[in-house]
Amino acid sequence: MILPDFTPVSSKPVLPSHRHLPASRISQACDGILNLIFPDRCFLCTAPVARLRDCSVCGDCWGKAVSLRLKPPWCPSCGLPFQMMPLTDEGHLCGACSVQIPPFSGARSFGYYAAQLSRLVQGFKFERRRNLAKPLASILASAYLETWRREEFELVVPVPLHPRRRRERGFNQAALLAAALQEQLMLPCSESPLSRVRDTLPQVGLSDAERQRNLRSAFRCDRPALVRDRRVLLVDDVMTTGATVASASEALLTAGARSVSVLTVARAVPGIE
Ligand SMILES: [Zn+2]
Ligand SMILES: [Zn+2]
Repeated sequence: MILPDFTPVSSKPVLPSHRHLPASRISQACDGILNLIFPDRCFLCTAPVARLRDCSVCGDCWGKAVSLRLKPPWCPSCGLPFQMMPLTDEGHLCGACSVQIPPFSGARSFGYYAAQLSRLVQGFKFERRRNLAKPLASILASAYLETWRREEFELVVPVPLHPRRRRERGFNQAALLAAALQEQLMLPCSESPLSRVRDTLPQVGLSDAERQRNLRSAFRCDRPALVRDRRVLLVDDVMTTGATVASASEALLTAGARSVSVLTVARAVPGIE
């Protein structure tokens, strides 16, 4: 099957394919030879895949991941998709946002943190499959173009990891995603102004109040001059309750950012796994 070249700078939202990644002729030839000797397999379902082109994910699994795309209506404040909301009731906030409005100006995720999409994100993050950064950034770009104008933000900031956790993992997944997104959409880039100063406990299993306590003052803006009076897009892999991005947003706003919006690959939604 012949697929079109990956053109991430389209003005229209694109439904991306990991097969659109460019590869040189030499790397394609090496890929073909290596595949003959050591066939590569999809890390989700073990179907055979092309080594370089497919990033170890077969077209079928990628298609299932992309089909988990969120559809409106969703909370205009935090982006939580409503499961049973009439389409006409625009502007209706979710339960959490009606109790306390988050500090960020809006949040958008590409898809549900479930099934193939959650396994892709976990493979990227925990199995160190760094070559998934570009295809995952292409789905971030798709959600971005659906939501904002290209010139909406003056700064793209990845949610930082604590240095100790970054050393353990070898990379910050949010930084790889933000860099690939900046490249694909030609967004303004700069050094990250934010750092994580407290190594917080894993959020899994904590109540909302415990999560907020866990994350209080977890972030610090080291370069306030970079963010002052700027509209900032904060990028992460997954948004669960929003406590992490809320805490990072507070640090940016305290440093003088004009606004902070949030973009993530996936959104954990209670009851959907
Ligand atoms: Zn597969
Ligand atoms: Zn909400």
